[in-house]
Amino acid sequence: MIKSLNKNQIKELIDNSDIALSHQEISKRLERQCDRVTIYRALDKLMEEGFIHRIVDVDGVSKFAACHGCTKNHHHQHVHFSCSVCSSVTCLEEIEPDFSLPEGYQVQEMNITLSGVCPVCSA
Ligand SMILES: [Zn+2]
Ligand SMILES: [Zn+2]
Ligand SMILES: [Zn+2]
Repeated sequence: MIKSLNKNQIKELIDNSDIALSHQEISKRLERQCDRVTIYRALDKLMEEGFIHRIVDVDGVSKFAACHGCTKNHHHQHVHFSCSVCSSVTCLEEIEPDFSLPEGYQVQEMNITLSGVCPVCSA
């Protein structure tokens, strides 16, 4: 049973963050009030409910970012940007590539992460 307090706290953290947060960053920001498993379960639940989505950064670390207007089915196809200097991952929600695929292929999920230097690090 997940305490909804924890789940809401985690949701709020992700909602209020400009960049995607890793499990470790979430745990740190909660000042370790929650154990690892509780956080994983809350993240799973939030993904299932359409509040957050997972992004894998260039180093293979999972990060979580807020969804806007998703329900149980996630419908965004935006690109993510992973900074190689500060390791931040940002949703570029207005960038949605459109591919014309050969006949018979149906895209169900898009997972595009660009890597490079973010505006903060290039300033
Ligand atoms: Zn979503
Ligand atoms: Zn950066
Ligand atoms: Zn995103």
